[in-house]
Amino acid sequence: MPAHGILSRAEMQHRTHSFTLDTSRLDGVLEQPLFRAVAAEARAKGIPAFAIGGYVRDLILGRPCKDIDFVVEGDGIAFAEGVARRLNAEPVHVFKNFGTAMFMLGELQVEFVGARKESYSRNSRKPEVEPGSIKDDQERRDFTINALAISLNEGSAGALVDPFGGLLDLDRGILRTPLDPDITYSDDPLRMMRAVRFATQLGFVIDPPSFEAIRRNAERLDIISAERIHGELNKILLCPRPSAGFILLRDSGLMARFFPEFLELQGAEEKYGIGHKDNFYHTLQVLDNVCEKSEDLWLRWAAVLHDIAKPKTKRFDPEHGWTFHGHEDKGARMVPGIFRRMKLPLDEQMRFVQKLVALHLRPIALTKEEVSDSAVRRLLFDAGDDIDALMILCRADITSKNEKKKERYLRNYELVMSKLAEVEEKDRVRNFQPPITGQDIMAAFGVEPCKLIGDIKTVIKDAILDGVIRNDREQAWQLMLETGRKMGREPVASMEAPLPPSSKEAGE
Ligand code: ATP
Ligand code: MG
Repeated sequence: MPAHGILSRAEMQHRTHSFTLDTSRLDGVLEQPLFRAVAAEARAKGIPAFAIGGYVRDLILGRPCKDIDFVVEGDGIAFAEGVARRLNAEPVHVFKNFGTAMFMLGELQVEFVGARKESYSRNSRKPEVEPGSIKDDQERRDFTINALAISLNEGSAGALVDPFGGLLDLDRGILRTPLDPDITYSDDPLRMMRAVRFATQLGFVIDPPSFEAIRRNAERLDIISAERIHGELNKILLCPRPSAGFILLRDSGLMARFFPEFLELQGAEEKYGIGHKDNFYHTLQVLDNVCEKSEDLWLRWAAVLHDIAKPKTKRFDPEHGWTFHGHEDKGARMVPGIFRRMKLPLDEQMRFVQKLVALHLRPIALTKEEVSDSAVRRLLFDAGDDIDALMILCRADITSKNEKKKERYLRNYELVMSKLAEVEEKDRVRNFQPPITGQDIMAAFGVEPCKLIGDIKTVIKDAILDGVIRNDREQAWQLMLETGRKMGREPVASMEAPLPPSSKEAGE
């Protein structure tokens, strides 16, 4: 092999003839205007330049890619400016502190950096950086498959620069670090999360010595910010089958560093011959089930957290066996603490997750008795627009191994679904707007804002949800007058009849 692991096209073909990988995707690269411009700039400046990292990996794997990184053996910023001029792709955004520069080429984000050598201190993932060669730069990368580079230089243009056997690892599906894994992981512990993330995204195996090194270094994750950790966790959650990643996170010891509540779900206790399911694996099954139906990250989070309070609410009752009473409410109350610690958003996304955790038992619990219209209306009222997400979670939550039980739950689920459709069409309570407003009540009884208004509104809302009156203004108006009288108020004479237009209509 020539110096620095440069593989010519012929050598690559020779090396890969038994591969399942299709390296022909590399062939057209040099024809693209961006690569031509980089090669021309490299020639003009006499500076070696390479495409590197995730872009090269994804090109060979045939995965889509939104960003592309170039490394040059020299000043990356001046080089970027030269390339941008050739492509009329200004403005160039310069990040002086990092020695990087980027510009957009259509949708593609193009980034340049000078090749560098790094040395780390023990307490930080921010290294000392000095200029280096392409090989130095490849060595500081996390995995061999992420260290692949394409040369854009005269004499070797289009050749793959692969000093660590990344192509072979890509073909075999292995995640391996270029250097001693203990050093790579200890230098920047975020790489351990990235290992699990790539294993889950690509369906790759973490090389066993590398996995052992993660176990040895797991505690080092504590120097990584919560934002970085949840960034990788969210990428794992967005994979088609996140359960594989969660199991790796547990087995590597990483999960213990940032998500102890999830580990608590493990295990199935038995008393007097009565057991309960292992809620760790149950939750992962629910999560994978949800992922088959929805791409929504926050619905996936709701699956992760739906039973999170089971360990805290677990009791053994000699009559009923294992119970987890109130785990949905306690779980919903745990959500903010977990989100805050992980530095996840505390706004509507969190409230959505909380709401789904709180409501996750409702649809199926409905069927314990007869599924009444009024119960379905109340469910629709409480879930609002999140009813569809809630029903996906509920369906995913039916994982019983007992076929009879599972069949019964599924029948109940179908029943609730059809009732929901029926009630929704009839009563429009999904985004319930009261047909009588506070303004109406104040006008009808000639009163200022007071407790009476809230009380009457509640009576009307309950009557509609219970099916005592229809969701319309006329019936609600009559009930308002009646209720006010019962509470000792006489309506203003002119307000009794005929029915005035709704305050909304009147305002229009
Ligand atoms: P994705 O874009 O899907 O997140 P990626 O591998 O492209 O995956 P980026 O964060 O875009 O990841 O980084 C681009 C490249 O930079 C990587 O392929 C890798 O070579 C290098 N890299 C990124 N983060 C690290 C890290 N923490 N340690 C070492 N190298 C890294
Ligand atoms: Mg990338």
